[in-house]
Amino acid sequence: MCGIVGYIGTNEAYPVLIKGLHRLEYRGYDSAGVAIVGPDAGLNVFKAKGRVADLEAFCKSKNISGTIGIAHTRWATHGEPSNINAHPHYSQSETLALIHNGIIENYAVLKKELALNGYTFQSSTDTEVLVQLIEYIKVSNKVDICTAVQLALEQVVGAYAIAVIEKGNPDLIIAARKSSPLVVGIGDDAFFLASDATPIIEYTNQVVYLEDEEIAIIRRNKPLKVVSIGNVEKTHEIIRLEMNLSQLEKGGYPHFMLKEIFEQPRTLRDCMRGRINVELTNVVLSGIIDNKEKFLNARRILILACGTSWHAGLIGEYLLEEFCRIPVEVEYSSEFRYRNPIIYPDDIVIAISQSGETADTLAAIELAKEAGAFVYGICNVVGSSIPRNTHSGSYTHVGPEIGVASTKAFTAQALVLTLMALCIGREKKTISEERFLKLLSEINNIPDKIELILQSNDSIKTLSNIFTYAHNFIYLGRGYSYPVAMEGALKLKEISYIHAEGYPAAEMKHGPIALIDNEMPVVVIATNNGAYDKMISNIQEIKARNGRVVAIANKDDTMVKAIADYVIEIPETEECLDPLLSTIPLQLLSYHIAVNKQRDVDMPRNLAKSVTVE
Ligand code: GLU
Repeated sequence: MCGIVGYIGTNEAYPVLIKGLHRLEYRGYDSAGVAIVGPDAGLNVFKAKGRVADLEAFCKSKNISGTIGIAHTRWATHGEPSNINAHPHYSQSETLALIHNGIIENYAVLKKELALNGYTFQSSTDTEVLVQLIEYIKVSNKVDICTAVQLALEQVVGAYAIAVIEKGNPDLIIAARKSSPLVVGIGDDAFFLASDATPIIEYTNQVVYLEDEEIAIIRRNKPLKVVSIGNVEKTHEIIRLEMNLSQLEKGGYPHFMLKEIFEQPRTLRDCMRGRINVELTNVVLSGIIDNKEKFLNARRILILACGTSWHAGLIGEYLLEEFCRIPVEVEYSSEFRYRNPIIYPDDIVIAISQSGETADTLAAIELAKEAGAFVYGICNVVGSSIPRNTHSGSYTHVGPEIGVASTKAFTAQALVLTLMALCIGREKKTISEERFLKLLSEINNIPDKIELILQSNDSIKTLSNIFTYAHNFIYLGRGYSYPVAMEGALKLKEISYIHAEGYPAAEMKHGPIALIDNEMPVVVIATNNGAYDKMISNIQEIKARNGRVVAIANKDDTMVKAIADYVIEIPETEECLDPLLSTIPLQLLSYHIAVNKQRDVDMPRNLAKSVTVE
């Protein structure tokens, strides 16, 4: 997944690069490195296994001066996390240094050919093969660095965002991308380069998002030049970013995750803004209204996503089938793309991804487009690849989500899907006017109700102490609460490393009930919805086997309170909106258990936020 940063300008590069790496550390954090062309035009590379802070410690005694450099924080795909496998990678003669996000799929073939030409390799990465190939082409064809990069990329199969700098050339960075994101920031007397805009925003809000197979030629004191791999000059649009710096800071919270959980009343209001009118009588999603006929005539809706977004997709299935009466299937993008799926031209595909860069979802979108389906994206990162590769879509508008475990993006995805279902349902007349208006007014109350739940943070923290040393958890829910149960379990796994399973409550009897004993905490979502009575029976079944029940229940509930061991109260709402509330205590419970276990909540082991590899 990796984070890439680059700088060329009038200031020292190192502080800009390190700060940028910290901003991108959510993308990968097993090793990091910088390459800088110094005042003597020498090319220095420094790398360290571990976090960006380890790199900083390592660089303390090093000569890091220079006004041009590139830097990388890695999420290993090829080769273990180590000093040697960390990026930047030198070419054989140490005249080039390269950073890379992605996978060079044909690296083995290229490596063999280079070896026959006398090249040796220090690392086990696919990346080192590319920098050697560039050098080999540069030397053997006697071409400049830019042409060498173009010719090398013509031979590459796979995904890449790269940046290259050269010894003796303090005025040039060459960058290129295919299927991995890359943004160029344009300052007054400087250029910035990064995997997303977060390292750039404090210096400039003018950015250019590179397109697939484009190469940026970034020269000191010269205008940015963008060419294709085939060397055709491309026009590039300069976009003005709206992001502000405070969104990237912790704002007094100990972790980004906690900050992001607490932001949810505001982020959901932001997500509704401009979509629900002030009178609470209408929902307008322009992406749907502009393509109304497609939605009205859709044979089927396919929702494609991974991880937490897939759970939001399941909520979407329930909503869209209930209110629009369109059959919906929810698929993992990674499974969908590798089988031989049936896609009709009158299918609508909804692709959900926080980052908008999820590699499997991007590939699945291409498949759907080839089959003629209309593709609608639900993403958070503005300008990312999915919004640029879909026919239409809606942003979630929650601002940067830095904590690796998704929280505010999930609730906003569920909200966008709710608004979509209402918008389409009204157009199709598959929802009554009365119900439509009732739901709109209740959606409007959701942020306030989340505020109330957040007030229970201290009691959830106290509750978390009881379960810190549990080895397993089961989460159960029915109907709209079933995806919430799965998401609750995933959150716990991600940040506390406790094994947890989310299950539809009725399925418990078909297997998981065998796991229940007095050591097993079972979190049940037992709010007052259609399946309430059945949930009560399920709790009884758990209690009969001495399981320890933590129930999420409504305020005035008496039955659940009488039988559950612990209860977290949440306000009542419409059944289809319940996930927006019941998710919140589960996020807080996972968070506090992980903190108790002294886990690295914002950067859990082995994970990265934006899964740009397949
Ligand atoms: N394949 C490269 C490596 O393992 C880059 C990994 C990535 O982008 O996640 O070093």
